[in-house]
Amino acid sequence: MLSLTARLRRGSLVLLLLGLLAIGFVATSLVSYHSASQSIRSHIIDTELPLTSDNVYSEIQKDLVRPILISSMMARDTFVRDWVMSGEQAPEQMSRYLREVQEHYGTVTSFFVSDKTHTYYQSRGVLKQVREGEPRDTWYFRVRDMAEPYEINVDVDMANKDRLTVFINYKVFDYEQGFIGATGVGLPVDAVVRLIDEYQQRYERNVYFVDTEGRIALTGSGGGPMGATVGQALADIEGLADLMDKLPRPQSGNFEYQEHGRGHYLNVRFIPELDWYLFVDKQEQAALAEVRKSLYFNLFIWILVTLLVLVLVSLVLRRYQLRISALATTDQLTGLPNRRGFDLLAGQALQDARRNHSPLSAMLLDLDHFKALNDSHGHLAGDQVLRAFSDQLRGSLRQSDIVCRWGGEEFILLLKDTRLEQARQIAEKIRAQAAELKPLQGEQTLPFTVSIGLTALQLDDHLDPLLARADRALYRAKQSGRNRVCIEQPPAPLGGEHQ
Ligand code: GH3
Ligand code: MG
Ligand code: MG
Repeated sequence: MLSLTARLRRGSLVLLLLGLLAIGFVATSLVSYHSASQSIRSHIIDTELPLTSDNVYSEIQKDLVRPILISSMMARDTFVRDWVMSGEQAPEQMSRYLREVQEHYGTVTSFFVSDKTHTYYQSRGVLKQVREGEPRDTWYFRVRDMAEPYEINVDVDMANKDRLTVFINYKVFDYEQGFIGATGVGLPVDAVVRLIDEYQQRYERNVYFVDTEGRIALTGSGGGPMGATVGQALADIEGLADLMDKLPRPQSGNFEYQEHGRGHYLNVRFIPELDWYLFVDKQEQAALAEVRKSLYFNLFIWILVTLLVLVLVSLVLRRYQLRISALATTDQLTGLPNRRGFDLLAGQALQDARRNHSPLSAMLLDLDHFKALNDSHGHLAGDQVLRAFSDQLRGSLRQSDIVCRWGGEEFILLLKDTRLEQARQIAEKIRAQAAELKPLQGEQTLPFTVSIGLTALQLDDHLDPLLARADRALYRAKQSGRNRVCIEQPPAPLGGEHQ
């Protein structure tokens, strides 16, 4: 059995080991987590988001270049100019022209607005008359008055179920540079929306456009940030307060902000052709999910390894402690408990006997003339006699009896549940067997005898007086001729349980 202090010491050693392992692991894991997340963060900010922005931008430019060319060609078309200048006869001619353009180039709409008659022609005929002051027609008067040859305008297409459309509005001049109208084509923003959707789904990014007033201008099919819809102001979107603190009005650059406690990386870029800002947003959590997963996996492995190490260390320590404590309480020559071992066992045995009021006898045994035996046959012969005697002693006792090598050629026996008379018979048997034992050393026999002092436990007795009585009995056995058993009766019991 291990003592409480030994167990405590082992426990604190295991705890110390656990602490050291934990500090080492937590430090290295946190450092590597930190550096991995830093490099992911800078990769997102410096590479990923600007690249997405570049790709979306170049896709838009690609989509815009062709309609601009078509519109430019329409504005320079001699048929258009001649037909207008000759008084806009036979409107179906213009409609056919616009239909041809639309079908041939695959645009969603094509139009011409005459400055003289304010008639809005499109492929299916005359759509309407544009009027100054009509909100839907402001675009025409803006184009008429602008300095540039054309504009790109994102607007709803009246001729096409108000679908959000990118219009190229080109000014048309007569041969003397007189303004005679506006022409151009419209293309739906579906292609851009598809591209936004693809980026959002494939790379877990949020891509949307914001106008110069800070209103959402165009989103993927699933909506803008936090499910916001086109036309909503960024400032009105719940959760973007932190972003709005950093970005009161749209401006290009890299930003980081918190939305409902979640970190976001944001790249904003101005698209001059549209007069919009392109927002590419990525959530930190999604970006760091992999790193976090590996952190948790590391943690799991560490717990497993630590548990294994702790169990192993604990088992090994326990084994060594048991072995050491066994060594400390066992006599090497005979394998019997030594005095230390006896103290541990005897204390418990006496306590049990006192508590249960059960009898207990104590015996002190001393080999006779052992010095002479050593002197005449040698020390090794003496050892052999000691071993043979202790083997015999052990063999003749019950499991519950306590036997110990007290030192030199002296032994102690505590016989549990044994009254003095019964103990005397056992002592006598031991004495007689010892005399008969005669161990062999080579050809030689080594006869020896043993003297025994016997006594019994008394109520309220302690180990010291018990052993003192046994010692006195032994002394008498020696004095009265050796090879005998002498008894010292305990003082008269109060309750009479003992002899
Ligand atoms: P007595 O009959 O009065 O007990 O005489 P004795 O010679 O047995 O007693 P004494 O105390 O004079 O001598 C004990 C001897 O036991 C002396 C010592 O050298 C020897 N002895 C003690 N331990 C060992 C041991 O481990 N091995 C051997 N061989 N001898 C031992
Ligand atoms: Mg002695
Ligand atoms: Mg002796």
